[in-house]
Amino acid sequence: MTVNFGIDLGTTNSVIARYHQGTVEVFKNPVGHKETLPSVVAFRSGRVLVGDKAREYMEKDPRNVIGSFKRKMGTSESFWIESIGETKTPMELSGLVLKELKNFVYTGEVLESAVITIPASFDTMQSNATKKAGQAAGFKEVFLLQEPIAASLAFANKEGNEGFDGRQWLVYDLGGGTFDVALVRTEYGEMRVIDHQGDNFLGGVDFDNLIIEHIIIPYLQTQADFGDLERELRSSSGRYNSLYYVLLKKAEEVKVSLSAQTIVDVEFEIETPQGKLLDVFFPVTREQFEDCIREKIADTVEMIRSILQRNELKAGNIHCILMVGGSTYIPLVRRVVEQELGIAISTAVDPTTSVAIGAAYFAGTKKRITAEDLPEPVMAGNLTLRVKCAYSKVSQDPEEYFLGQAEGEWQGLFYRMIRSDGGFDTGLKEMKERFSEYLPLAPNRHNAFELKIFDAQNNLLYQDSSIGIVSGKYGILGQPLPNDICIEVDDPENNGTKLELVFEKNSLLPLKKTLTKEVTKTIRKGSDERLIINILEGTNIATPGTNLSIGIIEIKGSELMIDLVKGSDVEIVLEISESRDLRISTYLMMTDQEFTNLFSPSERCVSHGKLEDEMVILLKELDREIGLANEHEEYELSQSLHDIRNQLQELHRQLCRMPSDDVTDAKFQIDDRKRNLALRIDALTKDKKNTRIKEEYFAYKKWCQQLLDNHGNEQEKMRFMDLTASEKQLLASNSPLLIESAIKKIREVAAPVQWRTPEYLISIYYHYAEMDGEYTDKGKSR
Ligand code: ADP
Ligand code: MG
Repeated sequence: MTVNFGIDLGTTNSVIARYHQGTVEVFKNPVGHKETLPSVVAFRSGRVLVGDKAREYMEKDPRNVIGSFKRKMGTSESFWIESIGETKTPMELSGLVLKELKNFVYTGEVLESAVITIPASFDTMQSNATKKAGQAAGFKEVFLLQEPIAASLAFANKEGNEGFDGRQWLVYDLGGGTFDVALVRTEYGEMRVIDHQGDNFLGGVDFDNLIIEHIIIPYLQTQADFGDLERELRSSSGRYNSLYYVLLKKAEEVKVSLSAQTIVDVEFEIETPQGKLLDVFFPVTREQFEDCIREKIADTVEMIRSILQRNELKAGNIHCILMVGGSTYIPLVRRVVEQELGIAISTAVDPTTSVAIGAAYFAGTKKRITAEDLPEPVMAGNLTLRVKCAYSKVSQDPEEYFLGQAEGEWQGLFYRMIRSDGGFDTGLKEMKERFSEYLPLAPNRHNAFELKIFDAQNNLLYQDSSIGIVSGKYGILGQPLPNDICIEVDDPENNGTKLELVFEKNSLLPLKKTLTKEVTKTIRKGSDERLIINILEGTNIATPGTNLSIGIIEIKGSELMIDLVKGSDVEIVLEISESRDLRISTYLMMTDQEFTNLFSPSERCVSHGKLEDEMVILLKELDREIGLANEHEEYELSQSLHDIRNQLQELHRQLCRMPSDDVTDAKFQIDDRKRNLALRIDALTKDKKNTRIKEEYFAYKKWCQQLLDNHGNEQEKMRFMDLTASEKQLLASNSPLLIESAIKKIREVAAPVQWRTPEYLISIYYHYAEMDGEYTDKGKSR
C-alpha cells in the first residue's frame, strides 16, 4: 500500500492532494471551496481557527492570530497567545494546519501517512520539526520531500510534457517566506536535484514589509510627525503595533493588485501621536513597488548564476526555469529572471498547487512502512511461504523487470502473474526460489498486478494484489542532503577542535557511515566526566563556530561499565534517512558497550544579546584578519575583507536599531546573514591563514631548536622531540587552531631555556633600563 497523500505545508498557504491510480486530485476546502488553506492559526475565546477564518481576525486581534510560523520552524522561538495564556511552538501551530487539511479529504480515508514538503534549504532541525508537526497532527508516518523536486514532478508528469529524458531545468520557487532555486535533471526516467540554493528569509512577506517601509511609512511621515514610526509599528509594545498587522494586509493587497494593474490606491485610518485622526488615501504605482523589490529579485538571479557557475553550465544548457510560488505572479520577477539569465521561463504548472501535486505523485510511489498497514499476503492452511517482491514503482519503459524471492516451502508450487485489466497473464509457471518476469505496462497509467501461487492440485495458496507500477510518470532518484554534516570532536587538551566531514552536501539520501575515533581523554567509570561529540551542519571548510550545531552525542562516565581510557577506539555509526532523521549509535570497543539513539537534537536559539556579542567578536576577528592581510601585503584579500566588514557593520546597525521585542523574524535573518558572512571570511582567509601559521610554526621550531642546541638540557630536548614527532600529522590537519596550540607548547619549552641565555638577560636589562631612564621597580631591576 502506498502513502498517496501529499501536503505542501507552506509559509503562507498549505495544500493537500492525493494520488490515485496515476492521477492526482487537489482537495478543496469544504468551506469556501478554495484549494489553498492559509497557514494561519487564531485562538479566539476557547476556539482554534485555522485558515481563512483565522486570517479574518489578523487585523482585529493580531495578538491571538499567528501566521508565517514556518519561518521559525526548528528554532527555540515560540509564540505567546494572549487569549489562552500559553505559548505555542511553530511545530504545534503547523500541526494544527495539518489537522485542518485532513478535513479537506472527503473520501473517508483515514490519513495515517503523508508526504510533507520542505524547502530544499531546510536544515536538519527544521526538517525534524516538520516531521514532529506531522506526528502532532496524528500522522503515524511522515515522509519529507523537497519542494523543488515536488514541483518538478508535477511539471514532468503533466500530460503532454514528454521527452524530458536527459534534460535539465531550474525550479524558481518564490513563495511567501522562502526562496529556493534548484537544478534538476532527468535521466532514464528518474529525476534528481543536482544542486540547489536558497534563502529561508526571502519571499512575499518581505515584499509586503518593503512596501510598508519604503512607501507607506515615508508617506505617513509627510502627513504628520510620527517619531520613530517603524519602531512603533514593529515593536510588540509599540504604539502602532496593531496597525502594523493592518498595514501588512494592505501592503499584500497592493502587491497582488499590482501584478495585474499598474496603479492602486491605499486607504486606511491612523491616529497621529498628536491625537488627530488621519484619513490616509494615496496611490501606489507598479514602478514604485518594483523599485522596492528590485534588489531582492537581483539577489535571486545571483543565486541562479552561482548555481550555473558551480556546475559549469551556460544558459544554453538549461531547458527552462520553472516558475513556482505565488510571488512568481509578479511581472517584474518573470521579466528580470528571463532577461538577466537569457533562459526561457515556464509557467506551465500552477504556482500555488504544483508542490502539493508533485508531493502526491511521490506519495504514490512510496510504500507505507507501518507494519499493520501492509497488506498481509493471503495464505492457506499452515503453509509457511512468503514472497518478497522487487520492482520499480514508476517506469518510463514499455515493460518493467519484476523479481520475486520465495522463502519457506515453495518447492512443487506454481505461480501466475496477471495484470488486473487482463492485458497480461503469465499462465501457470513452476515456482523457483528466485523467479523473474518482464511485466508489460499499459502506457500513462497505473498498472496493477496480482501474484498468485497454487499447489499442484490448482488450489490457490497465496495471493499478493499490492503490486503496482505507474508508467509514463517520472520518479525521483533520491533526495540530496542540503548541507555538509560534520562532527567536531571535543578536545580540551589541545584547546582546539576541527571539523570532520561525515556526509557531503548533495549526496543522495539515505546515507550511512561508520567512523572510528580515538577517545581524547580518559573518562572514569561512574564519574561526572563526559565525552561530547558535536554534530554540525554547514560547510566542512569552515571553523566549527560558523556552522550550525544540530545536536550532540554525549556519553557520561556514570553510564560506563569500566573506565574509558584515552586513546581507545570509539566506533560511531551515523545514519540519515530519506526524511532526514539522524540516528547515531556509538560502540565503545574498550568497554564493549553500545549506545544507541544517542543523538539529542538541538533547537536553533538566537537571542538578541548573544547575536550582538557574536557580531562584536566577529568584527574584532575581522579587524585582526585585515591587519594581517595588510602586513603580508595581501591587498586583494584585505579589500574583500573590508567589504565584508562594511556589510557586517550594517547588520550590526540593523540589530541595534531593532527593538528587543521585535515581532518579525528579523533576528533570524540577521543571524543567517551573519553566519554567511562568517563563512565567507573563513573561505577567504583559510588558505592564507594556514600558510601563515605554518610559516610561523617553522620559524618557532627553528628558533627553539637553536636555543636548545646551545643552552638546553636533555630533558628539555626530549620534550621538544616529543612535541615535533607528530608534526606531519599536525600540518596535514590544516587546522590553524591545532597548529597554534603546538606553537604555544614549543614556546613553553623554550621559555625557561631562554632565561638561561646571557643575550636574553642582557636584552631584558636594557628593556627595563631604557623604559624610563631609571630603575623604579626594585624587584625587576634586581
Ligand atoms: P508559500 O509557498 O510560502 O506558502 P505561496 O507559494 O502560496 O507561498 O505564495 C504566497 C505568496 O505569494 C504571498 O506572499 C502572496 O502575497 C503572494 N502572491 C500570491 N498571488 C500573488 C500575485 N498575484 N501577485 C503577487 N504576489 C502574489
Ligand atoms: Mg511554497
